[in-house]
Amino acid sequence: MTSEEKFKKVISHAKEYGFIFPSSEIYDGLSAVYDYGQNGAELKNNIKDYWLKAMVQLNDNIVNIDSAILMHPTIWKASGHVDAFNDPLIDNKDSKKRYRADVLIEDHITKIEGKIEKEINKAQKRFGKNFDKEQFIKTSPRVLQYYDKIKSIYNHFSKALEEDDLIGLKNIIEDLEIVCPVSGSKNWTDVKQFNLMFGTKLGASSESAMDLYLRPETAQGIFVNFLNVQKTSRLKIPFGIAQIGKAFRNEIVARQFIFRMREFEQMEMQFFIKPGTQKEWYEKWKETRLKWHLSLGIKKENYRFHDHEKLAHYADAACDIEFNFPFGFKELEGIHSRTDFDLSNHEKFSSKKIKYFDSQINESYTPYVIETSIGVDRMFLAVFSNSLEEESLPDNSTRTVLKLPVILAPIKIAILPLLKKDGLPELSKKILDKLKWDYKVVYDEKDAIGRRYRRQDALGTPFCITVDHQSVSDGTVTIRYRDSMVQERASVHEVISKIQSNLNIKSWLKT
Ligand code: ATP
Repeated sequence: MTSEEKFKKVISHAKEYGFIFPSSEIYDGLSAVYDYGQNGAELKNNIKDYWLKAMVQLNDNIVNIDSAILMHPTIWKASGHVDAFNDPLIDNKDSKKRYRADVLIEDHITKIEGKIEKEINKAQKRFGKNFDKEQFIKTSPRVLQYYDKIKSIYNHFSKALEEDDLIGLKNIIEDLEIVCPVSGSKNWTDVKQFNLMFGTKLGASSESAMDLYLRPETAQGIFVNFLNVQKTSRLKIPFGIAQIGKAFRNEIVARQFIFRMREFEQMEMQFFIKPGTQKEWYEKWKETRLKWHLSLGIKKENYRFHDHEKLAHYADAACDIEFNFPFGFKELEGIHSRTDFDLSNHEKFSSKKIKYFDSQINESYTPYVIETSIGVDRMFLAVFSNSLEEESLPDNSTRTVLKLPVILAPIKIAILPLLKKDGLPELSKKILDKLKWDYKVVYDEKDAIGRRYRRQDALGTPFCITVDHQSVSDGTVTIRYRDSMVQERASVHEVISKIQSNLNIKSWLKT
């Protein structure tokens, strides 16, 4: 299956099994806006819960808040979003398609990186066991040439971005002979800036209405509450404030399903620290966040760090955790060392003192900040796409199975009576009543048992409990595991304790 086919399968599976629907579908949809269905909403909540447990419940110096989506408009002046939250856009005159100029250039760089990768793989095959990758990278003339090329592009690219030089950006696209992926032509318009914030109005009459923005990130709700939280919680630096909430961006190129949406959800945490300690905290949070991802059991090679060459106006270090999505490695989470940019600017724009008094050194200062920011929807896409498998079975049949991390699965247990009679449904419902207090459990009595198993496989349900005639006589049931398809007979009590040990949050987050 090509990666494009795989991605299509992900999208259709998400719809067919009640995970994700296009928004306003009966009115032909709304571009880059999606609704989460009955199973999607559960999976999304489980992702948020897993993040909150790791971030807030397990750290006594991190608290959670829920700030409003609508905020005073000056906040977006102070944060730099009014002036600088722009994307440079460019149109291809032949295909009439619109692109982000920076993304076109970055994709070109990725292609060159792909060529380097190819050279390395070729050499690895040629030299076999004796291959010294480091040495090869340092000495292969072709690889060195590619690296030089990337460096030179980055130099021009960062300069153009820093200086807001839109002509410079267009020149880079022309010099690199970048073509439109749709028309294949180099017939480009000039580059224009486009602000990504959605505007709205507060107030009844048009004269007195106040122009507002829908927040493009949740972070600012944390910064403007820094003093409120610090004073009422009496937390001492270093400490963090976390928040999960909706954010809105009028993305120019909103493709790739829920990867880039116009309304999405973020899980952000701002960690307030003493100035000068940012390097060590930045490294610590990089490590902590990667560990969180790996705790879900998704293969390590699907993640990589990408350090930012061009830094945002507020950052002194920044990187992304990239994930191997069906369309390649792309940003899943950002980790940014934001200095004191935000708090200082809010102090300036609000004329309120925003300082922290450090009793250990008897001094007041503006704290520095390390931010971790991950999109819930991108995390959803990462786990969902990685879990969907078309598996060939020994009897030459295939099954579609969603091997979600058990802790995130929307439905944890399905209770299936073998037949719809002889007391089997009644016993099944008794077991369901016992389990439903702790887990999301479903009951299904329709269709042959094999088909019911397949349906639960496709939904990602890790455990099926089958109730048969023997269950009525001796109280034992069959537990079937989604991934191995192994079936075991055991007492209801034993089955529950097996499930409990698989869903023990401690063993997930401790790894
Ligand atoms: P990109 O470069 O892909 O536009 P970004 O660097 O602008 O992303 P941030 O501002 O750092 O993203 O936002 C933090 C996180 O929020 C991202 O890592 C991503 O997971 C998520 N995110 C950002 N924009 C979107 C979007 N349009 N749709 C879904 N998730 C998003």
